[in-house]
Amino acid sequence: MKESGGGRKQGTPSPCAACKLLRRRCAQDCVFAPYFPAEEPHKFANVHKVFGASNVNKMLQELPVHQRGDAVSSMVYEANARVRDPVYGCVGAISSLQQQIDMLQSQLAQAKAEVVHLRVWQNATLSNHGPNPASPSNSGSPSSRLMASQGKSIFDMDMMVDQPSLGDSIW
Ligand SMILES: [Zn+2]
Repeated sequence: MKESGGGRKQGTPSPCAACKLLRRRCAQDCVFAPYFPAEEPHKFANVHKVFGASNVNKMLQELPVHQRGDAVSSMVYEANARVRDPVYGCVGAISSLQQQIDMLQSQLAQAKAEVVHLRVWQNATLSNHGPNPASPSNSGSPSSRLMASQGKSIFDMDMMVDQPSLGDSIW
């Protein structure tokens, strides 16, 4: 017995996943029915285990209809995370993502500092017009040397941005 889009046709005998689990009659205006269709029983099981059906019922009743779908997605996500990780729940995922953000931000700051450093070094090298042991293109004209060194530093930056996992060994 398949229903499309979670909606219920009038007179459908099959109760929604919530009412089935709670062993109660699924009323025509059941607040769970649009979000917990019968064909996804696991979706309600964890939500009920973590939040309790009456709390979910209360929360959904207090929300305007257009926000209930998002609220259910959030509760399903939180409940699944809590079942997977009973101690931290979705806070564990949030804090691990926060750590990644902090790490990437510090890599970005280091890369920006390196850009400034390379620009200063480049300006000093170009204004001196002296011998440059770091550059293999000394024999070229000043303009070709400029192109080469710019191309090199831009290439280096791309490599660093594309391979953040190598950051530790580079620094
Ligand atoms: Zn129902």
